[in-house]
Amino acid sequence: MAEETIFSKIIRREIPADVVYQDELVTAFRDISPKAPTHVLIVPNVLIPTANDVTEAHEHALGRMFTAAAKIARDEGIDENGYRLIVNCNKHGGQEVYHIHMHLLGGEPLGPMLS
Ligand code: ADP
Repeated sequence: MAEETIFSKIIRREIPADVVYQDELVTAFRDISPKAPTHVLIVPNVLIPTANDVTEAHEHALGRMFTAAAKIARDEGIDENGYRLIVNCNKHGGQEVYHIHMHLLGGEPLGPMLS
């Protein structure tokens, strides 16, 4: 069994977070250390530690992460100008929290990703 992270507590509303969207499959909340005017993390409600742990059983929840991202981008008013979706995996990917999450970043030009 994978070890729970702080994100499980946020999903269960046991610790405070600025939750912008939640349904039966995913939860989205503002990053505590935003790297752009809009910086939201979208996570599956079930614990999937990294992209390496994804299986077909997770496809519904992972698809919902994209549906939620599109809705949040519209709500934030950043859909037309655009935004960036990022999933980091393990050490070389810069993953810090081992509950898979999608970063939704926008609200300003983000510049080249690999620089
Ligand atoms: P990185 O820190 O390199 O972006 P991750 O991709 O694992 O690594 O992202 C973890 C993100 O979770 C970070 O952007 C961090 O600011 C955010 N974070 C950590 N704890 C909390 C929290 N309690 N509430 C909201 N965001 C959090």
